[in-house]
Amino acid sequence: MERSTIVRVHEGLHARPATRFVKLAKGFESDVELVKDGKAVSAKSSVKLMLLAVKENQEVTVRAHGADAIEAIEALIGYLENPKAGLDDEDSQPTGDAGPKAAVGSAPTASGAANGLRGVAASEGFAIGPAFAHFPPDIAGQGRMLQAEEIGGEIDRFRAAVRAVQARMDHALAQDSLSAGDRGIVAALRDIAADDSLTGEAEGLIKGGNDAVSAVITAASTIAAEFSAVDDHYLNARADDVHAVGRQICLVLLGQDDVSLENIPEGAILIADDIGAWDLARAPLKRIGGVVCGHGGATSHIAIIARSHGIPAVLGLGGQVNALRTARDVALDGNAGHVIMDPDEATRADFAGRVEAAAKERAGLTVFKTVTPKLADGRIIEVAANIGSLEEIEAAQEAGAMGIGLFRTELLFMRHMHLPSEDMQAETYAALAKAFAPYPVIVRTLDIGGDKPIAGIEFPDEENPFLGWRGIRMCLDRPDIFKRQLRALLRAAVHGNIKVMLPMVSDISEVRQTRVLVDECTAELKAEGVPHASFDLGVMIETPAAVLIAPALAKEVAFFSIGTNDLTQYIMAADRLNPTVAKLNDVTNPAVMSAIEMTAKAGVAAGIMVGMCGEAAGRPDLIATFVKMGLTELSMSPASIQRAKKTIMAMAAEG
Ligand code: PEP
Ligand code: MG
Repeated sequence: MERSTIVRVHEGLHARPATRFVKLAKGFESDVELVKDGKAVSAKSSVKLMLLAVKENQEVTVRAHGADAIEAIEALIGYLENPKAGLDDEDSQPTGDAGPKAAVGSAPTASGAANGLRGVAASEGFAIGPAFAHFPPDIAGQGRMLQAEEIGGEIDRFRAAVRAVQARMDHALAQDSLSAGDRGIVAALRDIAADDSLTGEAEGLIKGGNDAVSAVITAASTIAAEFSAVDDHYLNARADDVHAVGRQICLVLLGQDDVSLENIPEGAILIADDIGAWDLARAPLKRIGGVVCGHGGATSHIAIIARSHGIPAVLGLGGQVNALRTARDVALDGNAGHVIMDPDEATRADFAGRVEAAAKERAGLTVFKTVTPKLADGRIIEVAANIGSLEEIEAAQEAGAMGIGLFRTELLFMRHMHLPSEDMQAETYAALAKAFAPYPVIVRTLDIGGDKPIAGIEFPDEENPFLGWRGIRMCLDRPDIFKRQLRALLRAAVHGNIKVMLPMVSDISEVRQTRVLVDECTAELKAEGVPHASFDLGVMIETPAAVLIAPALAKEVAFFSIGTNDLTQYIMAADRLNPTVAKLNDVTNPAVMSAIEMTAKAGVAAGIMVGMCGEAAGRPDLIATFVKMGLTELSMSPASIQRAKKTIMAMAAEG
């Protein structure tokens, strides 16, 4: 059985769409082939598929033999005919709104294509400036085996080096000049330096006769490879951190200083194969115009630092970055993940125009930073920020966030090699509460499932993880983990306006069971004499069940926050990560809009606050509709805040 079609996938089946096509094909039992110009290859091999070099607007035939041939052809043709298939990146950011996307689209600039490179669009914005190549020499071990009598001394030397690195990081953490965001990153690196996974592995190798430098290099590679092997971008990004810590230990062992970024010229584009987050955090960030790196992804620490300091960045170029070692000037497009070496005059003019236009738009919006949007009837609309780490506090404050409408706690659990302790969580939540007081900080309890594994929680293999053991379901089954988080939140509530919201609620009993646990935690803290305060408990409305029981739920909770990312996928039964059904995944579909309206009605009738923290909250074209429905809080990524305030003010002015 076969069917022909014209390929509409943006830019054809290049690397990423090819991988997705293969993933889709592998879901069918049938043998499937893709045929172009009479040449047939298996649709289940990405290498073969890429070698077939299928371009946009070319005709191909999908051929299938087997029990599910009809379904396979249907699905694969659907994929090929979807222009968005190549654009929608499912891997860059598991949470939807916070992160930039890996670049797969066409370069927006026509000129300069000959020297254009593609990477991951890790921090938005345009930049053009002189290249500053930063390629510190590789570190090598002695490459000889130690004598038995040398081993004790080498272990002492190694331990002293680890202590020195930890002390250096502690010293950096004690400096007032370190921003809150960068502090969190250095703290995460120190966590790795202090964890015996890396040091234990290295010591084992030294005991086996390796010199300390070789042992650290090998141990760092082993641990980093474990991070890289996990099917999760957050964890993958930790591999770079392990290498950065290993490098610091080696430099101490070798008595060397690292190559400094201190002399980077104003507005320069930093080019490197890899920059340790540790190095970047200490660099003169105000002078850096852009960052281009061989390593790193949208969720790596380099990306987080770049985003929070507003530096455009393209990461993950791999070996291509070497081509830039000799560049004089570099232009980069952090929205599309595109880098141009020694741009020609036309490209320079194009980029200069884009940089200027972006600056103009930003400048025009900054007046809204301190605005408190008020409607004609006097109602204040809170425009808050969605963030996932302390590193993003500054960006949210800079944007003029009126508090935090969604703090995703997943990253806190994912970035460490073990589950975060109650103390560590309490410190994090307290830091947030203090940073935004008296505005509210809404912390979402752990929303994790089998699709995003974390160290310390065993997830079952599930056919449909999005319909499985996740969010509040997992938390209620693991009171040991959940109570630790609730206790930390009760402790943090002393320091500001903490509110807590539960994800993935689909049954009223989930709220009631949580209340029992909160009461237990409160009683425990009281008995232990630990300072604590109560918090408002709310729920995310992101399942159809929650919408349908919203009137009953509203009687049990202090607020609703509509999670349009999940609500859309569950209402439309269209996987939010599956580009083939991207058309259905549309919040403006009347089915989703009426679910939002039903929720708003139920909340308003019960007199509780109704907010929204899904992607749609930041859409200027929808804000007026949501506000008219009765929503009084909209939470979004910091970059959208000023535009949203402007939209609300314009709406108020119209009356
Ligand atoms: C949502 O589902 O709309 C939401 C805000 O949560 P997340 O994107 O983290 O699932
Ligand atoms: Mg959600």
